[in-house]
Amino acid sequence: MMEPKYKRVVLKISGEALAGENKFGLNEEMLSMVAKQVKALVELGVQVAVVVGGGNFWRGRTSKSMDRATADYMGMLATVINSLALQDAFEAIGIPTRVQTAIEMKEVAEPYIRRRAMAHLSKNVVVIFAAGTGNPFFSTDTTAALRAAEIEADIILLAKKIDAVYSDDPEKNPDAVRFDQLTHKEVLDRGLGVMDSTAASLCMDNKIPIHVFGLSEPDNVIKAIYGEKIGTIIK
Ligand code: UDP
Repeated sequence: MMEPKYKRVVLKISGEALAGENKFGLNEEMLSMVAKQVKALVELGVQVAVVVGGGNFWRGRTSKSMDRATADYMGMLATVINSLALQDAFEAIGIPTRVQTAIEMKEVAEPYIRRRAMAHLSKNVVVIFAAGTGNPFFSTDTTAALRAAEIEADIILLAKKIDAVYSDDPEKNPDAVRFDQLTHKEVLDRGLGVMDSTAASLCMDNKIPIHVFGLSEPDNVIKAIYGEKIGTIIK
């Protein structure tokens, strides 16, 4: 039998991907679809840490008039809503899951403690990292890069609404070129919108590969774990 290519992964799910067609809020079909994919990974013996975005509720940079730090704290709280929804969907199908928040709210979830997160992972418990990095002016892509470095993950699986990295938005520009493989430096030099530059440089400096693919195809996470050529690999 084929072995999974990676032992410990950070799965980054954008908030938007959880909204499905609605584009806002939570789509329960998407939640259970993600849960099934995570379950398949856990059953393969892969240790899964999840970082979820908040864009289906709020992004700090959206506001024109609000104080940016306040708007960003609101965005971090949105990621907590998504994390609890994912935990619920995971546990509904028997995946033991802990949520750890970067902003303490101990009635709701554990605080982020690196060593405890690693202990959970080594027991095949899924850990969801909520509330981003806990700091305004950062993104959940940067959170995924930071946590991946901290927990010594083999790769970041970047599950998106779009199926790969393109030179431009393929919905707006029919000439947009699709990339199969890129280096971190190319992502930075070309200013590709796949992730913000803070996240891309953190991955580059710490040699963390990123596999970008579409979340809507039900088997993509499994394909990615076997190293199949879907989406775009950044390394
Ligand atoms: N955010 C933040 N610090 C972090 C992570 C997230 O301030 O470390 C805020 C920021 O306002 C961001 C929002 O949370 O816009 C939601 O995260 P993100 O935009 O990364 O979500 P996604 O686009 O992946 O759904």
